[in-house]
Amino acid sequence: MEIFHTANKSLIKDMNTSTILQIVRTKGPISRAEISKLTGLNPATVSSNTAGLMELGLVRETGIGVSSGGRKPLLLELNPEAYYVVGVDMGTTDVAVGITDLEGHIHRKITLPFGGAAEPEEIMGIIGQAIRMVLDESGMDTERFLGIGMGIHGLVDPDKGVSLFAPAFQWKNVHVAQLFSEQFGLPVSIDNDARVMALGEKWFGKAKAVSNFFFLNIGTGIGSGIYLNGELLKGAHFGAGEIGHIRIASHQEKPCFCGKTDCLSTAASGPALEDMARKAAARGQAPMLAELSNGELEAITGELIHQAALQGDDFSIRLLDQAGRHIGDALSLVINLLNPEMVLIGGGVANGGDFIFRGIKEEIANRSMQHNIEHIYIGPAGLGDDCGIIGAATLILRSVFSNPNQYST
Ligand SMILES: [Zn+2]
Repeated sequence: MEIFHTANKSLIKDMNTSTILQIVRTKGPISRAEISKLTGLNPATVSSNTAGLMELGLVRETGIGVSSGGRKPLLLELNPEAYYVVGVDMGTTDVAVGITDLEGHIHRKITLPFGGAAEPEEIMGIIGQAIRMVLDESGMDTERFLGIGMGIHGLVDPDKGVSLFAPAFQWKNVHVAQLFSEQFGLPVSIDNDARVMALGEKWFGKAKAVSNFFFLNIGTGIGSGIYLNGELLKGAHFGAGEIGHIRIASHQEKPCFCGKTDCLSTAASGPALEDMARKAAARGQAPMLAELSNGELEAITGELIHQAALQGDDFSIRLLDQAGRHIGDALSLVINLLNPEMVLIGGGVANGGDFIFRGIKEEIANRSMQHNIEHIYIGPAGLGDDCGIIGAATLILRSVFSNPNQYST
């Protein structure tokens, strides 16, 4: 009985500390009295918990607030540079590693190419090298780092820290978290890349004040992160959000790497667009792309297609518009099904701007229930190209903020 009582007491203390830290993060600078009012915790509890947070260095006193009679209160705010986190955005052709502070600001970052490597040992070796480089460049002791967060494409088991299946490399069951935690002596947390980006948008991007939103990542593959009632959905076996494998009405029987045909990924992912553009250029149907690439088909990338569209190239404009319409079509399913408040779109293809967004928005308007689109926001993600790094770092921040006392000694 006594043991249960003690455990319970410490759990409540942990929850109180977490609640207070979240309030300081989202509402600071804020007075202890205001925290007490917002949380319903008595002033003595707020005081002892904030003392603990200040001792950990997570919270500091700043400035002086408005007095409601009596002595003016000192305000509390997050101490964003007390600690740092490493965020790893593992792509399919390269890895971007950044260091962020507690507010998700990136302090330094580097990108290393995989150079055609695909074996887990090689890829993990390059990622480990990139992490080592940013840590060394920072000149800071490992003690200043709270952990390493990482987004990986495909199926990921975040509880076990295992990449279950990464289709671009065709690997299965790679124990990523264990490997890096042994290598760097830091906690490591991993999840699916699109889910991680949704998390970043929730904490630091456009979705801060939103509980129901859909994050679509369109890059080499197409994935998504789904927030429902403030919770990030992972599904029964971590497969929620695989919108890239929704069947589209193209009836071309185009094979997808998942083994099925006519998936959204075959019509709107970066590689799908490049493939269509290269084939058209080879047939002489995309003269401007052929010219811009100096006849080298491999040089036709998503970026080049966007450039050609900006120069008025009919083929490229049509290609991006068609991709946007397929995406909009798939998103209308999501909108009818989940009634999100916001649809955020990130990843390389989202850089196609209006050429792609026009089709997306028109198809959504054509195919969604009017009620579900009356107040919806549809637009690019707030964190841009850094979304993957910041989101990955947030995996660690989420754990820190949900239980700051884990760092008490
Ligand atoms: Zn598929």
